Amino acid sequence: MATIDDLSRELGGLRGRRVLVRSDLNVPVDGGTIIDDGRIRAGVPTIRQLADQGTRVVVTAHLGRPDGSPDLDYSLAPVAERLGELLGAEVAFATDSLGESAQATVDSLQDGRVALLENVRFNAGETSKDAAVRGEVADRLATLAEAFVSDGFGVVHRKQASVYDVAQRLPAAMGQLVATEIGVLERLTQAPERPYVVVLGGAKVSDKLGVIDNLLGKADKLVIGGGMAYTFLAAQGYEVGNSLLEKDQLPTCRGYLNRAADQGVEFLLPTDVVITDRFAADAVAEVVRADQIPADRMGLDIGPESAQRFAAVLSDARTVFWNGPMGVFEFEAFASGTRAVAQALTELDGLSVVGGGDSAAAVRLLGFDETAFGHISTGGGASLEYLEGKTLPGIDVLDAGEETFGQRLLKTR
Ligand code: ADP
Ligand code: MG
Repeated sequence: MATIDDLSRELGGLRGRRVLVRSDLNVPVDGGTIIDDGRIRAGVPTIRQLADQGTRVVVTAHLGRPDGSPDLDYSLAPVAERLGELLGAEVAFATDSLGESAQATVDSLQDGRVALLENVRFNAGETSKDAAVRGEVADRLATLAEAFVSDGFGVVHRKQASVYDVAQRLPAAMGQLVATEIGVLERLTQAPERPYVVVLGGAKVSDKLGVIDNLLGKADKLVIGGGMAYTFLAAQGYEVGNSLLEKDQLPTCRGYLNRAADQGVEFLLPTDVVITDRFAADAVAEVVRADQIPADRMGLDIGPESAQRFAAVLSDARTVFWNGPMGVFEFEAFASGTRAVAQALTELDGLSVVGGGDSAAAVRLLGFDETAFGHISTGGGASLEYLEGKTLPGIDVLDAGEETFGQRLLKTR
Protein backbone atom coordinates (compact mmCIF):
# COMPACT_ATOMS: atom_id res chain seq x y z
CA MET A 1 0.00 0.00 0.00
CA ALA A 2 1.24 3.47 -0.86
CA THR A 3 2.22 5.79 1.98
CA ILE A 4 2.07 9.56 2.27
CA ASP A 5 5.75 9.68 1.26
CA ASP A 6 4.92 7.79 -1.94
CA LEU A 7 2.10 10.23 -2.59
CA SER A 8 4.43 13.15 -2.05
CA ARG A 9 6.90 11.68 -4.56
CA GLU A 10 4.18 11.11 -7.11
CA LEU A 11 2.84 14.63 -6.81
CA GLY A 12 6.29 16.24 -6.70
CA GLY A 13 5.86 17.42 -3.13
CA LEU A 14 2.76 18.17 -1.11
CA ARG A 15 3.18 21.88 -0.40
CA GLY A 16 0.09 23.73 -1.56
CA ARG A 17 -1.63 20.49 -2.60
CA ARG A 18 -5.16 19.81 -1.44
CA VAL A 19 -5.31 16.37 0.17
CA LEU A 20 -8.56 14.79 1.32
CA VAL A 21 -8.11 12.71 4.48
CA ARG A 22 -10.78 10.25 5.62
CA SER A 23 -10.43 10.12 9.40
CA ASP A 24 -12.48 8.28 11.98
CA LEU A 25 -13.60 11.02 14.36
CA ASN A 26 -16.70 9.16 15.53
CA VAL A 27 -16.47 10.00 19.23
CA PRO A 28 -19.22 9.86 21.86
CA VAL A 29 -20.83 13.31 22.07
CA ASP A 30 -23.44 14.29 24.67
CA GLY A 31 -25.20 17.60 24.11
CA GLY A 32 -22.22 19.04 22.24
CA THR A 33 -19.67 17.78 24.79
CA ILE A 34 -17.12 15.17 23.72
CA ILE A 35 -17.07 12.36 26.29
CA ASP A 36 -13.95 10.58 25.05
CA ASP A 37 -11.62 12.12 22.44
CA GLY A 38 -9.49 9.01 21.86
CA ARG A 39 -10.32 8.70 18.18
CA ILE A 40 -9.61 12.38 17.50
CA ARG A 41 -6.20 12.04 19.12
CA ALA A 42 -5.53 8.91 17.07
CA GLY A 43 -6.23 10.87 13.89
CA VAL A 44 -3.87 13.74 14.70
CA PRO A 45 -0.47 12.29 13.61
CA THR A 46 -1.48 11.87 9.95
CA ILE A 47 -3.17 15.27 9.77
CA ARG A 48 -0.14 16.86 11.38
CA GLN A 49 2.29 15.03 9.08
CA LEU A 50 0.47 16.47 6.07
CA ALA A 51 0.06 19.97 7.50
CA ASP A 52 3.76 20.09 8.44
CA GLN A 53 4.58 19.60 4.76
CA GLY A 54 2.46 22.59 3.76
CA THR A 55 -0.45 20.47 2.55
CA ARG A 56 -3.94 21.98 2.53
CA VAL A 57 -5.61 19.25 4.56
CA VAL A 58 -9.31 18.60 3.98
CA VAL A 59 -10.65 16.12 6.52
CA THR A 60 -13.85 14.17 5.95
CA ALA A 61 -15.48 12.06 8.67
CA HIS A 62 -18.78 10.96 10.13
CA LEU A 63 -20.42 11.06 13.54
CA GLY A 64 -22.98 8.49 14.62
CA ARG A 65 -25.75 7.25 12.39
CA PRO A 66 -27.87 10.16 11.10
CA ASP A 67 -30.55 9.09 8.63
CA GLY A 68 -28.86 10.48 5.52
CA SER A 69 -29.91 14.12 5.95
CA PRO A 70 -28.55 17.02 8.04
CA ASP A 71 -29.22 16.60 11.77
CA LEU A 72 -27.38 18.93 14.12
CA ASP A 73 -27.38 16.33 16.89
CA TYR A 74 -24.72 14.61 14.78
CA SER A 75 -22.74 17.70 13.83
CA LEU A 76 -18.95 17.49 13.74
CA ALA A 77 -18.65 21.14 14.89
CA PRO A 78 -17.50 20.21 18.44
CA VAL A 79 -15.00 17.78 16.90
CA ALA A 80 -13.53 20.57 14.73
CA GLU A 81 -12.92 22.61 17.84
CA ARG A 82 -11.27 19.75 19.73
CA LEU A 83 -9.16 18.83 16.71
CA GLY A 84 -7.97 22.43 16.56
CA GLU A 85 -6.98 22.32 20.24
CA LEU A 86 -5.02 19.11 19.71
CA LEU A 87 -3.28 20.45 16.58
CA GLY A 88 -2.61 23.80 18.20
CA ALA A 89 -4.07 25.58 15.17
CA GLU A 90 -7.61 26.54 14.30
CA VAL A 91 -9.50 24.08 12.10
CA ALA A 92 -11.82 25.64 9.51
CA PHE A 93 -15.24 24.00 9.66
CA ALA A 94 -17.45 23.60 6.59
CA THR A 95 -21.15 23.34 7.43
CA ASP A 96 -21.69 20.81 4.63
CA SER A 97 -19.45 18.15 3.13
CA LEU A 98 -20.25 18.36 -0.59
CA GLY A 99 -21.87 21.76 -1.09
CA GLU A 100 -21.04 25.46 -1.23
CA SER A 101 -19.60 25.66 2.27
CA ALA A 102 -17.20 22.78 1.59
CA GLN A 103 -16.06 24.36 -1.68
CA ALA A 104 -15.62 27.83 -0.16
CA THR A 105 -13.77 26.45 2.86
CA VAL A 106 -11.38 24.46 0.68
CA ASP A 107 -10.87 27.41 -1.70
CA SER A 108 -9.80 29.71 1.13
CA LEU A 109 -7.57 27.15 2.87
CA GLN A 110 -3.94 28.27 3.26
CA ASP A 111 -0.89 26.01 2.90
CA GLY A 112 -0.38 23.89 6.01
CA ARG A 113 -3.87 24.55 7.35
CA VAL A 114 -6.64 22.08 8.13
CA ALA A 115 -10.35 22.07 7.33
CA LEU A 116 -13.00 19.64 8.57
CA LEU A 117 -16.10 18.98 6.48
CA GLU A 118 -19.46 18.44 8.20
CA ASN A 119 -20.66 14.85 8.79
CA VAL A 120 -20.44 13.06 5.44
CA ARG A 121 -23.34 10.80 6.48
CA PHE A 122 -25.68 13.80 6.13
CA ASN A 123 -25.71 12.58 2.50
CA ALA A 124 -27.70 9.39 1.99
CA GLY A 125 -25.37 8.40 -0.85
CA GLU A 126 -22.43 7.96 1.53
CA THR A 127 -23.68 4.62 2.82
CA SER A 128 -25.77 3.54 -0.19
CA LYS A 129 -25.55 -0.07 -1.34
CA ASP A 130 -25.78 1.24 -4.91
CA ALA A 131 -22.30 1.92 -6.29
CA ALA A 132 -23.64 4.52 -8.73
CA VAL A 133 -25.30 6.48 -5.91
CA ARG A 134 -22.15 6.32 -3.79
CA GLY A 135 -20.20 7.33 -6.87
CA GLU A 136 -22.00 10.68 -6.99
CA VAL A 137 -20.86 11.46 -3.44
CA ALA A 138 -17.34 10.24 -4.22
CA ASP A 139 -17.19 12.35 -7.41
CA ARG A 140 -18.01 15.48 -5.46
CA LEU A 141 -15.53 14.69 -2.68
CA ALA A 142 -12.87 14.04 -5.31
CA THR A 143 -13.31 17.51 -6.84
CA LEU A 144 -12.23 19.01 -3.51
CA ALA A 145 -8.72 17.54 -3.59
CA GLU A 146 -5.83 16.25 -5.70
CA ALA A 147 -5.10 13.18 -3.58
CA PHE A 148 -6.69 10.98 -0.94
CA VAL A 149 -5.33 9.60 2.31
CA SER A 150 -7.27 6.83 4.03
CA ASP A 151 -6.76 7.03 7.79
CA GLY A 152 -10.15 6.13 9.25
CA PHE A 153 -9.30 2.64 10.42
CA GLY A 154 -12.65 2.33 12.23
CA VAL A 155 -14.48 2.50 8.87
CA VAL A 156 -12.18 0.57 6.49
CA HIS A 157 -14.51 -2.44 6.70
CA ARG A 158 -17.25 -0.28 5.14
CA LYS A 159 -17.79 0.03 1.40
CA GLN A 160 -18.78 3.68 1.65
CA ALA A 161 -18.25 6.66 -0.63
CA SER A 162 -15.71 8.51 1.54
CA VAL A 163 -13.85 5.29 2.37
CA TYR A 164 -13.93 3.17 -0.75
CA ASP A 165 -15.25 4.92 -3.87
CA VAL A 166 -13.25 8.11 -3.47
CA ALA A 167 -10.03 6.07 -3.30
CA GLN A 168 -10.73 4.90 -6.86
CA ARG A 169 -10.95 8.49 -8.08
CA LEU A 170 -7.75 10.05 -6.71
CA PRO A 171 -4.14 9.01 -6.16
CA ALA A 172 -4.55 7.29 -2.81
CA ALA A 173 -2.39 6.32 0.16
CA MET A 174 -2.85 5.02 3.68
CA GLY A 175 -2.27 7.24 6.70
CA GLN A 176 -0.21 6.46 9.79
CA LEU A 177 -3.12 5.17 11.84
CA VAL A 178 -4.21 2.68 9.19
CA ALA A 179 -0.59 1.56 8.77
CA THR A 180 -0.15 1.04 12.52
CA GLU A 181 -3.44 -0.80 12.96
CA ILE A 182 -2.85 -3.14 10.03
CA GLY A 183 0.69 -3.79 11.27
CA VAL A 184 -0.60 -4.90 14.67
CA LEU A 185 -3.30 -7.11 13.12
CA GLU A 186 -0.66 -8.76 10.94
CA ARG A 187 1.33 -9.56 14.08
CA LEU A 188 -1.79 -11.21 15.54
CA THR A 189 -2.49 -13.31 12.46
CA GLN A 190 1.00 -14.18 11.23
CA ALA A 191 2.86 -16.31 13.76
CA PRO A 192 1.67 -14.73 17.06
CA GLU A 193 3.86 -15.56 20.04
CA ARG A 194 2.21 -18.30 22.08
CA PRO A 195 0.21 -18.80 24.18
CA TYR A 196 -2.17 -16.60 22.15
CA VAL A 197 -5.31 -15.80 24.13
CA VAL A 198 -8.39 -14.02 22.83
CA VAL A 199 -10.85 -12.43 25.24
CA LEU A 200 -14.30 -11.57 23.93
CA GLY A 201 -17.12 -9.74 25.66
CA GLY A 202 -19.43 -6.79 25.17
CA ALA A 203 -22.95 -6.57 23.92
CA LYS A 204 -22.79 -7.03 20.13
CA VAL A 205 -23.04 -10.79 20.43
CA SER A 206 -24.08 -11.80 16.92
CA ASP A 207 -21.50 -9.43 15.38
CA LYS A 208 -18.75 -11.14 17.32
CA LEU A 209 -19.62 -14.81 17.09
CA GLY A 210 -18.22 -14.97 13.55
CA VAL A 211 -14.71 -14.24 14.71
CA ILE A 212 -14.73 -17.33 16.95
CA ASP A 213 -15.08 -19.49 13.86
CA ASN A 214 -11.71 -18.31 12.57
CA LEU A 215 -10.02 -18.02 15.97
CA LEU A 216 -10.70 -21.66 16.87
CA GLY A 217 -7.95 -22.57 14.43
CA LYS A 218 -5.56 -19.84 15.58
CA ALA A 219 -5.81 -18.98 19.27
CA ASP A 220 -4.73 -21.33 22.07
CA LYS A 221 -7.38 -20.14 24.50
CA LEU A 222 -10.67 -18.30 24.18
CA VAL A 223 -12.06 -16.41 27.14
CA ILE A 224 -15.68 -15.30 27.01
CA GLY A 225 -17.30 -12.74 29.31
CA GLY A 226 -19.66 -9.78 29.07
CA GLY A 227 -23.02 -10.08 27.35
CA MET A 228 -21.48 -12.72 25.04
CA ALA A 229 -21.19 -15.24 27.86
CA TYR A 230 -24.89 -15.80 28.50
CA THR A 231 -25.70 -17.30 25.11
CA PHE A 232 -22.87 -19.79 25.74
CA LEU A 233 -24.11 -20.50 29.28
CA ALA A 234 -27.61 -21.05 27.87
CA ALA A 235 -26.11 -23.31 25.19
CA GLN A 236 -24.87 -25.51 28.03
CA GLY A 237 -28.41 -25.71 29.37
CA TYR A 238 -28.17 -23.11 32.14
CA GLU A 239 -30.92 -20.64 33.07
CA VAL A 240 -29.73 -17.10 32.25
CA GLY A 241 -32.82 -15.16 33.39
CA ASN A 242 -33.09 -11.72 31.79
CA SER A 243 -29.43 -11.60 30.76
CA LEU A 244 -28.50 -10.78 27.17
CA LEU A 245 -29.39 -13.83 25.11
CA GLU A 246 -29.40 -14.50 21.39
CA LYS A 247 -31.66 -17.54 21.16
CA ASP A 248 -31.10 -18.08 17.45
CA GLN A 249 -27.35 -18.38 18.08
CA LEU A 250 -27.62 -21.26 20.55
CA PRO A 251 -26.81 -23.97 17.96
CA THR A 252 -23.82 -21.92 16.72
CA CYS A 253 -22.53 -21.59 20.27
CA ARG A 254 -22.96 -25.32 20.91
CA GLY A 255 -21.03 -25.99 17.71
CA TYR A 256 -18.16 -23.77 18.85
CA LEU A 257 -17.99 -25.46 22.25
CA ASN A 258 -17.81 -28.88 20.58
CA ARG A 259 -15.19 -27.78 18.07
CA ALA A 260 -13.07 -26.21 20.82
CA ALA A 261 -13.15 -29.52 22.73
CA ASP A 262 -12.21 -31.47 19.57
CA GLN A 263 -9.37 -29.14 18.66
CA GLY A 264 -7.96 -28.83 22.17
CA VAL A 265 -8.65 -25.11 22.37
CA GLU A 266 -9.29 -24.09 25.95
CA PHE A 267 -12.65 -22.31 26.15
CA LEU A 268 -13.20 -20.36 29.36
CA LEU A 269 -16.66 -19.21 30.40
CA PRO A 270 -17.54 -17.48 33.68
CA THR A 271 -18.16 -19.85 36.56
CA ASP A 272 -19.72 -17.10 38.68
CA VAL A 273 -21.55 -13.91 37.70
CA VAL A 274 -22.75 -10.66 39.24
CA ILE A 275 -26.53 -10.44 38.97
CA THR A 276 -29.18 -7.83 39.69
CA ASP A 277 -32.88 -7.23 39.10
CA ARG A 278 -32.65 -4.20 36.80
CA PHE A 279 -30.28 -2.37 34.46
CA ALA A 280 -29.42 0.70 36.55
CA ALA A 281 -26.48 2.43 38.22
CA ASP A 282 -27.93 1.94 41.70
CA ALA A 283 -29.08 -1.65 41.19
CA VAL A 284 -28.10 -4.01 44.02
CA ALA A 285 -25.43 -6.50 42.94
CA GLU A 286 -25.17 -10.11 44.09
CA VAL A 287 -22.70 -12.88 43.15
CA VAL A 288 -24.03 -16.33 42.21
CA ARG A 289 -22.69 -19.47 40.48
CA ALA A 290 -23.09 -19.26 36.71
CA ASP A 291 -25.58 -22.16 36.78
CA GLN A 292 -27.68 -20.56 39.53
CA ILE A 293 -29.04 -17.41 37.86
CA PRO A 294 -32.68 -16.90 38.97
CA ALA A 295 -35.18 -16.45 36.14
CA ASP A 296 -36.04 -12.89 37.24
CA ARG A 297 -32.42 -11.66 37.43
CA MET A 298 -29.82 -10.57 34.85
CA GLY A 299 -26.06 -11.00 34.80
CA LEU A 300 -24.20 -7.74 34.34
CA ASP A 301 -20.62 -8.77 35.16
CA ILE A 302 -18.41 -11.82 35.60
CA GLY A 303 -17.95 -12.81 39.24
CA PRO A 304 -14.75 -12.49 41.32
CA GLU A 305 -13.75 -16.14 40.88
CA SER A 306 -14.06 -15.83 37.08
CA ALA A 307 -12.14 -12.55 37.10
CA GLN A 308 -9.31 -14.30 38.94
CA ARG A 309 -9.32 -17.31 36.59
CA PHE A 310 -9.32 -15.07 33.52
CA ALA A 311 -6.48 -12.95 34.91
CA ALA A 312 -4.44 -16.07 35.68
CA VAL A 313 -4.82 -17.32 32.10
CA LEU A 314 -3.79 -13.92 30.79
CA SER A 315 -0.72 -13.74 33.00
CA ASP A 316 0.78 -16.72 31.13
CA ALA A 317 -0.05 -15.41 27.67
CA ARG A 318 2.44 -13.87 25.23
CA THR A 319 -0.16 -12.46 22.84
CA VAL A 320 -3.63 -11.22 23.80
CA PHE A 321 -6.41 -9.71 21.75
CA TRP A 322 -9.25 -8.32 23.87
CA ASN A 323 -12.54 -7.12 22.43
CA GLY A 324 -15.58 -6.28 24.53
CA PRO A 325 -15.97 -5.39 28.22
CA MET A 326 -16.58 -8.18 30.74
CA GLY A 327 -19.58 -6.37 32.21
CA VAL A 328 -21.51 -3.13 32.32
CA PHE A 329 -18.39 -1.18 33.34
CA GLU A 330 -20.33 2.10 33.03
CA PHE A 331 -21.90 1.21 36.43
CA GLU A 332 -19.29 0.88 39.20
CA ALA A 333 -21.02 -2.16 40.73
CA PHE A 334 -20.45 -4.09 37.48
CA ALA A 335 -16.98 -2.83 36.52
CA SER A 336 -14.78 -5.28 38.46
CA GLY A 337 -14.51 -7.94 35.76
CA THR A 338 -13.48 -5.45 33.09
CA ARG A 339 -11.01 -3.86 35.51
CA ALA A 340 -9.43 -7.26 36.28
CA VAL A 341 -8.95 -8.14 32.61
CA ALA A 342 -7.56 -4.68 31.79
CA GLN A 343 -5.18 -4.92 34.74
CA ALA A 344 -3.95 -8.34 33.57
CA LEU A 345 -3.28 -6.96 30.09
CA THR A 346 -1.16 -4.13 31.48
CA GLU A 347 1.02 -6.70 33.25
CA LEU A 348 1.44 -8.90 30.19
CA ASP A 349 4.92 -9.89 29.06
CA GLY A 350 4.13 -9.77 25.36
CA LEU A 351 1.77 -8.07 22.92
CA SER A 352 -1.58 -6.88 24.30
CA VAL A 353 -4.13 -5.45 21.90
CA VAL A 354 -7.41 -3.84 22.93
CA GLY A 355 -10.03 -3.56 20.17
CA GLY A 356 -13.51 -2.08 20.26
CA GLY A 357 -14.79 1.41 20.92
CA ASP A 358 -16.31 0.60 24.30
CA SER A 359 -13.36 -1.54 25.41
CA ALA A 360 -10.99 1.32 24.65
CA ALA A 361 -13.29 3.78 26.42
CA ALA A 362 -13.48 1.40 29.41
CA VAL A 363 -9.70 1.33 29.70
CA ARG A 364 -9.62 5.12 29.89
CA LEU A 365 -12.72 5.50 32.08
CA LEU A 366 -11.33 3.00 34.61
CA GLY A 367 -8.19 5.12 34.83
CA PHE A 368 -5.61 2.87 33.16
CA ASP A 369 -2.54 4.37 31.53
CA GLU A 370 -3.02 3.77 27.80
CA THR A 371 0.71 3.33 27.27
CA ALA A 372 0.62 0.22 29.49
CA PHE A 373 -1.12 -1.61 26.62
CA GLY A 374 0.68 -2.77 23.49
CA HIS A 375 -1.93 -1.24 21.22
CA ILE A 376 -5.41 0.22 21.64
CA SER A 377 -7.25 -0.12 18.36
CA THR A 378 -9.67 2.55 17.19
CA GLY A 379 -11.66 0.05 15.15
CA GLY A 380 -13.63 -2.73 16.82
CA GLY A 381 -15.64 -3.87 13.81
CA ALA A 382 -12.73 -3.46 11.42
CA SER A 383 -10.28 -5.43 13.57
CA LEU A 384 -12.82 -8.20 14.17
CA GLU A 385 -13.53 -8.52 10.45
CA TYR A 386 -9.80 -8.66 9.74
CA LEU A 387 -9.38 -11.42 12.34
CA GLU A 388 -12.37 -13.22 10.81
CA GLY A 389 -10.33 -13.37 7.62
CA LYS A 390 -12.64 -11.06 5.67
CA THR A 391 -11.22 -8.53 3.22
CA LEU A 392 -11.62 -4.91 4.25
CA PRO A 393 -12.91 -2.90 1.25
CA GLY A 394 -11.17 0.31 2.39
CA ILE A 395 -7.82 -1.53 2.49
CA ASP A 396 -8.43 -3.63 -0.59
CA VAL A 397 -9.07 -0.54 -2.68
CA LEU A 398 -5.69 0.90 -1.65
CA ASP A 399 -3.95 -2.35 -2.56
CA ALA A 400 -5.75 -2.46 -5.91
CA GLY A 401 -4.79 1.13 -6.60
CA GLU A 402 -1.15 0.34 -6.11
CA GLU A 403 -0.77 -1.14 -9.54
CA THR A 404 -1.97 1.94 -11.36
CA PHE A 405 0.01 3.96 -8.87
CA GLY A 406 3.18 2.02 -9.71
CA GLN A 407 2.44 2.29 -13.40
CA ARG A 408 2.03 6.02 -13.07
CA LEU A 409 5.35 6.20 -11.22
CA LEU A 410 7.08 4.25 -14.01
CA LYS A 411 5.75 6.67 -16.62
CA THR A 412 7.42 9.56 -14.85
CA ARG A 413 10.86 7.91 -15.14
P1 ADP B 1 -16.87 -2.88 21.96
O1 ADP B 1 -17.36 -1.51 21.59
O2 ADP B 1 -15.67 -2.85 22.85
O3 ADP B 1 -16.70 -3.76 20.76
P2 ADP B 1 -19.57 -3.75 22.49
O4 ADP B 1 -20.06 -2.57 21.75
O5 ADP B 1 -19.83 -5.08 21.91
O6 ADP B 1 -18.02 -3.59 22.83
O7 ADP B 1 -20.20 -3.79 23.95
C1 ADP B 1 -19.98 -2.79 24.90
C2 ADP B 1 -21.13 -2.73 25.86
O8 ADP B 1 -21.40 -4.01 26.39
C3 ADP B 1 -20.88 -1.84 27.06
O9 ADP B 1 -21.68 -0.69 26.96
C4 ADP B 1 -21.26 -2.72 28.25
O10 ADP B 1 -22.06 -2.03 29.19
C5 ADP B 1 -22.06 -3.82 27.61
N1 ADP B 1 -22.07 -5.06 28.39
C6 ADP B 1 -21.03 -5.76 28.85
N2 ADP B 1 -21.44 -6.82 29.55
C7 ADP B 1 -22.79 -6.80 29.54
C8 ADP B 1 -23.80 -7.63 30.09
N3 ADP B 1 -23.51 -8.69 30.83
N4 ADP B 1 -25.09 -7.29 29.87
C9 ADP B 1 -25.39 -6.21 29.13
N5 ADP B 1 -24.49 -5.39 28.58
C10 ADP B 1 -23.19 -5.69 28.78
MG1 MG C 1 -19.30 -0.76 21.04
